[in-house]
Amino acid sequence: MARLRCSDYGFECDFVSEGEVEAVIKEFGKHTDEEHGIEYSEEALMQFILRQKY
Ligand SMILES: [Zn+2]
Repeated sequence: MARLRCSDYGFECDFVSEGEVEAVIKEFGKHTDEEHGIEYSEEALMQFILRQKY
């Protein structure tokens, strides 16, 4: 399981993507591209997830 929260990456936005790693990467990447005009690579998003500590 993985979770990416827009507000953790400097956006004033309450979007959160949670679930399977692959799905989170796709969903969060699509959201930041469409809503914030920022396109993260899948590698970058994977790094975001890997660096998180719960
Ligand atoms: Zn957002």
